[in-house]
Order: sequence, then C-alpha cells, then structure tokens
Amino acid sequence: LMGQMMSQPLLISSIIKHADRYFGKNEIVSRRVEGDIHRYTYSDCHSRSKKLANALRGLGVQMGDRVATMAWNGYRHLEAYYAVSGSGAVLHTLNPRLFPEQIAYITNHAEDQYLIFELTFLPLIEAVAQHCKTIKGYILMCDRDRMPAQSALPNLMCYEDLIDSNSDDYEWPLFDENSASSLCYTSGTTGNPKGALYSHRSTLLHSYASTMPDALNVSGRDAVLPVVPMFHVNAWGLPYSVPLTGAKMVFPGPSLNGKSLYDLFEAEQVTFSAGVPTVWLGLLNYVAQNNLTFSSFKRTVIGGSACPPAMMKTLRHKYGIEVVHAWGMTEMSPLGTCATLQSRHLALPEEGQQAMLEKQGHVIFGVDMKIVDDAGKELPWDGKTYGNLLVKGPWVIQDYYKGEGGDVLEDGWFPTGDVATIDGDGYMQITDRSKDVIKSGGEWIGTIDLENIAMAHPAVLQAACIGVLHPKWDERPLLVVVKRPGMDVTREELLAFYEGKIAKWWTPDDVAFIDALPIGATGKVLKNRIRESFRDHVLP
Ligand code: ADP
Repeated sequence: LMGQMMSQPLLISSIIKHADRYFGKNEIVSRRVEGDIHRYTYSDCHSRSKKLANALRGLGVQMGDRVATMAWNGYRHLEAYYAVSGSGAVLHTLNPRLFPEQIAYITNHAEDQYLIFELTFLPLIEAVAQHCKTIKGYILMCDRDRMPAQSALPNLMCYEDLIDSNSDDYEWPLFDENSASSLCYTSGTTGNPKGALYSHRSTLLHSYASTMPDALNVSGRDAVLPVVPMFHVNAWGLPYSVPLTGAKMVFPGPSLNGKSLYDLFEAEQVTFSAGVPTVWLGLLNYVAQNNLTFSSFKRTVIGGSACPPAMMKTLRHKYGIEVVHAWGMTEMSPLGTCATLQSRHLALPEEGQQAMLEKQGHVIFGVDMKIVDDAGKELPWDGKTYGNLLVKGPWVIQDYYKGEGGDVLEDGWFPTGDVATIDGDGYMQITDRSKDVIKSGGEWIGTIDLENIAMAHPAVLQAACIGVLHPKWDERPLLVVVKRPGMDVTREELLAFYEGKIAKWWTPDDVAFIDALPIGATGKVLKNRIRESFRDHVLP
C-alpha cells in the first residue's frame, strides 16, 4: 500500500522561493571586495538569482553543465548558488587558495563551461585561463565601472550587465531530486583533488538536518555570519540552511581579519557564526588586545579540525559564547556530528560537561557511524577503544566524481580516514587522522590530545605534533610550537607541562619552535609540510 502524499522533488530552488515568499523582507548584508557594505533582502536575492538563471540559459548552459565560481562569501555568490543549481546546472565552487596548477586541473576535470569570479581573483584567473580548456566564457562579479579596460580573458562579461539585461521572469524547472546540484573537490593534500558531487536531495536533507537545535540550531531570530568560505564545502551548507529559516545573513567578503570581523559582528548584531579554529585565533586576539566584548554573539560552530579546548573555554567562559564542536568532511556535505549535551549530562559537574563538549559529538539524524579495526571488525563504544571511523547516510558520497579512486565504500560504509573513539552515550571523539597518527613501538599515539595540552599553555599560540623517525620505537612525537607574541616558554617547561596530563610514554620527545605553522587551502594546519621540514630532525 502506497502513501498518498504529494510527490514533490526536493530541489534547491525551493529554498530561495520559500525565503522570498515568507521572509522576503529579511536582510542579506555583505561586505564587498570594493570595501563598502551592501544590503538587500531575500526577495531581491531571489529576483536577481532568476535574472542570472535567464542569463545562463541565454549563454546556452544546459541541465547538468558545470558552472564554476571563485568568490568570497557575498550576495552575488549566493545568487550564483541559486541560479546555477536551481536551473539544473551544477555549481562548482573553486577554492582560490589552491595552487594555480590544481585550479587548472580541477576546472578541466570538472569540464566547467563558465567561470563566475570576483575582482580579487582576476590576476589568478588570467594566469590559469590558458590551461582551462573547457571554459567558454568568464563572468566578472562587479559593477560595470570596475571592469578592467583590457584583459587577456576570452569572452569576458560583466556580471551586472548580465543581471541588468535579463528579466526575472523565470520559472525554476522541476526535475529529479537526485540530479547533481554542486561539486566540491577535496583539498588534495595527498594526490590529485577528488570531486564530491552533491545532489538536490542530499543538499536539502542536509539543510533540514543541520538546522536542528542539536546541530547548528539556526532560527529566524538569528543573524548568521558564515566565516567558513562558500568555496569550502559550501560554507557547511549555511547558504541553504540560513535562507530556509529566514535568519538574517551577514557575509564578510574578503575581510577575515580580527578587526573587520569584529566590526561586522557588532554592526550587524550577529548572533551565530561558524568557522575553522584558525580563524577564531585572529578574532580572539583582536578582541583580547583591545579589551572588547561581544554584544550579540551567542553561539558558534567550530569544526574542520579539532577545536582546542583552551579556545573553547575562552569563548565559553570569558565571552559567554556557546561553542558547538562539529565534525564532518567534504565527502559528507559536510556535517556528521555535533557536540551538544543531553538532559542527563546537565547533572555532570562542569569538567564533565566540558569533556563531553570537547568531543566531536553525536551524529545528526540521517548519519550513522561505527569504528572498526583493520580487519573491519566493529569495535566497542567504551570511549577508550579507538579504530577507523566509517559513516553512511543520504548526504555521504558513494563514489567520487568520474569514479576517481575506484570503489570507495567498504560494505556500504564510507571510510573517513579518521581514527576515533565512541563512548557509551554515542559521542565520538577523533583521536587523529589515520595519516597523522604516530606509531610508537607498535602502539598508536593520537596527536590531537598532545596538541590540545600544549595549546592550554599560556605562551603557546599554536601547536602541531608529528611523528619523527626513531631507531628503536619507529616514530616518536615531536611537538612543534608557535609562541604567543611577546611571551616565552622553554622546551623543558613545555615537556614538564605534560606531566600528570597524559601517559608518560605519550609525552613528546622534543619541542621545536617555529614562527608560523603552514596553513592549507581550507585553513587547516598542513602536517605533511611540517613532517617534511622536520624529516631529518634528530631526537635527543
Ligand atoms: P580536506 O581538508 O582533506 O579537504 P575536509 O575539509 O573535508 O577535507 O576535512 C575533513 C577532515 O577534517 C576530517 O576527515 C577530519 O580529519 C578533519 N576534521 C573535521 N572536523 C574536525 C573536528 N571537529 N575535529 C578533528 N578533525 C576534524
């Protein structure tokens, strides 16, 4: 017996239609490359998205064609999100922080037809364009008077001209919800980047799920500032989940330094934000140095790499900001788990609650997870046994784009490449990425714990732990530290700082001080680069 409910495909266009119809007056505020602040409403955004969809149709873009963007978080990028996917084409968000060769590789691999980009990236695009074989035209997101007088780019168009010369009389097409909607490549720290091709259905389900109170908890009363870039896993889905709720959207554009962010948080009364740990360092430093407080900022999601407990405590206790530690990956659209408490945990003492919040947390309904040993046997959920973390769910990939990497699933589960424990309450904690784990005398040492301890030292700004070859133990931990400006700490003091906090044999063998950690295209510390620099490091 079949149910008798309407069969309506889950399509991305329905989000912007809904935002226009029900939250039409709510604002989208953007700091632009030009430096000024731009404001308009969800209705304006919908209207301009339809104009852009008409323009793309005029350029011959068909269902399934890939259209690339290279842009900051801003209103025009949001319009492209809806115009491209909504019209049935595939939005391919390019990460400008990748190497030019990688950018060329990715556009060729994706067979992008058009590239919509922002002024900041004009020199970069001009440099790679000759290698981008499939791109038929370039659309520069700027006002007419900002267009370059001359450019080497073939078929260069002005975004605003396209908007002005098209009508917003456009019906979003209906099609199979399993059609491809957008394409994100992994950052390719090992080998060539691989594409995760999302569908309308996976994106809509991820959007519903991620707004839930124990996930991102976005509501119509929020003002949301996504710091995580729209070119990094679709800013964790916020360009979809925020319009779905009608919350005010605040885009920071290219200005991600502490002062610019703080000014925008205050001026627009931002309540909620999301980003990787490295971006909060800058903001927190600025706020501390200038003795400032936040007047509206209530909650933030931190993920992408482990949130150092010291950072979480500062945000929670000094500034009264709730931190939701989240875990996910490009292959998971990206959200998998969030650390929020259940009623039962509220009876725990503060340290017990903090310990739960420091984990990567519980799955969002829709995702299932397990940990297994190297033979694939499922391991117990005791909070101690660690193993390879596998996931499944309707917003997890089953293949990479064009089948790169062959069969990726193991018995229907996606191997994340992370090593984790799961406790009796189902809270997962990442010990490490499997490629970063230190193998010492046949045992594993997780580097995240070691880094978190170092980061709790007042003189440590950033820390990374890597395995260095050792004649007897195969590998031993080396702690690499960036000191806080104006503060000092010695190797011996740091090693002593580990006493009583961790098993003795986990304590690093040595400490190296450097000026800055190498940061990759998605704001994460590049451990492989650090490993290369210290390949010949001789441990004492
Ligand atoms: P890449 O950086 O390879 O492009 P992603 O940006 O998709 O990939 O990052 C996914 C990886 O980031 C995860 O597999 C995990 O190793 C790491 N990660 C994400 N969130 C967290 C977190 N909260 N704690 C620890 N590691 C995390």
